[in-house]
Amino acid sequence: MTDRTEVDKVLAEAAHHANSSVLAASDLAGVGDPYFPVDGSDLFTITHHTLEVDFDLTSGMLRGVARLDIAVSADVPAIALDFGLPTQAVAIDGSTLAPRVVPGKLVLEPDTGLSAGSHQIDITYAGLPGEVEIRGERSWLNTPLGALAAREPHAAAFWFPTNDHPSRKATYDLTITVPRGFVAVAPGRLVEHSHTSRVHRFRWVTAEPVASYLYSLVVDRMRIELDTLDDHGVQWVSAYGDGVNDSAPSARASIETTPTVCAWLVTLLGPYPFDAIGGVVTRMAGPHALETQTHPIYGDHFFRRSLDSYVVAHEMAHHWFGNSVSLSTWNDIWISEGMATYLSWMWSEHNGEGTTDELFSSFYHLRAANPDYWRIPPGDPSPAHLLSTQVYERGAMATHVLRRSIGDDAFISCLRTWCADHRHHHGSLSQFLATAAAVSKADTVAIMQPWLFARRRPDPPPGVLTPADLEPPSLRFIRRTGDPQSPRPAGPSR
Ligand SMILES: [Zn+2]
Repeated sequence: MTDRTEVDKVLAEAAHHANSSVLAASDLAGVGDPYFPVDGSDLFTITHHTLEVDFDLTSGMLRGVARLDIAVSADVPAIALDFGLPTQAVAIDGSTLAPRVVPGKLVLEPDTGLSAGSHQIDITYAGLPGEVEIRGERSWLNTPLGALAAREPHAAAFWFPTNDHPSRKATYDLTITVPRGFVAVAPGRLVEHSHTSRVHRFRWVTAEPVASYLYSLVVDRMRIELDTLDDHGVQWVSAYGDGVNDSAPSARASIETTPTVCAWLVTLLGPYPFDAIGGVVTRMAGPHALETQTHPIYGDHFFRRSLDSYVVAHEMAHHWFGNSVSLSTWNDIWISEGMATYLSWMWSEHNGEGTTDELFSSFYHLRAANPDYWRIPPGDPSPAHLLSTQVYERGAMATHVLRRSIGDDAFISCLRTWCADHRHHHGSLSQFLATAAAVSKADTVAIMQPWLFARRRPDPPPGVLTPADLEPPSLRFIRRTGDPQSPRPAGPSR
């Protein structure tokens, strides 16, 4: 346990050690993402994070020791990590240095610079992640029963130092200590867990690289269940927070559809890319979920009425689109969200609960009278509308037009080729359309232009159903997933 006096002491000590200074433009030279230009850095790559973290729920204090294995591509005078907590000690290759702290960045500037090649950075830190604000965002949530760091597009730098961009993925080995009675779940396999009279300790290891925004953490009073899923040794991890009592049966029934949903996705997209799978359900106020790698995090809101395998299909589809194949830049969000939404439509069709033609036509007509809706293009929605309804719905509509234009065989071939060629890497929207063109011999850029980039409602495509054809009873998917006239709130959702 840590009292407030000690919290203040640690923060004061950290401020003393950190050499805060004037902001330099070069400190904020990120990877050059069109939407979030300050994010990350293209001067170096973190290959592996080793994190040892202790989180005290009473005070909200998080103490950590991070060892980052990095690769620097060319000699540089300095590098900047994305990080918002105060540091107490920093060393590169064993030599200590005083970092410069600028908002959301930790600038490391050794006297002799950094040479091209491999280096090791050690950082000791402590602070209150719930009070960290980076460029106007707060992403660490202290909840009534625990804490949650799960937000798209930014959550990592609120609790560990990293290179915070999906094009800069790395592996992780996290050991986290929480008070006894609490469970901490992070991506990957749970390889060790132990306890003393005071604390529980969990060690989570990822064999495959993870985009930093998908390296989520849930600390909660939870029941955690482990199993081995199949002959390949994939580890099953499911966890249900104590706060989800009312919806626990339907939450469990929904999460337990994951292997079935995944087996169906494998038939479409190719092998499952990871060595762990499952889901975490925790109490949340709204309908939020995130495709946290290997164990998506679901708010219990999804399961309050009944079983919902569509949110499971969406989050697991991300394990190919968004997780294994990450975004090269955030403006290409359609490849992740449009595709995951469309695959949940295909899951509806597979289950006889509304065909993709019916779903496409329903949304196309439902949004007809709303010109503002069509002003946000899913192929370039803007940072403010990154997770807007249009990215999901219009994104899925665009995907349906692509499928109907090039045919089922070419469409599935495109998806499988994309997932194989970019496995555990990243890709851009233009590369995706090039893949679709290569397998179909069609002008996919021309086909997709109005559906991805137009700021008006595209003309109806061939085969669109009329409103008279669309009997509401056939659209169980829409009724299950909510009123499509009421857009979901932006945030860490789906
Ligand atoms: Zn999603």
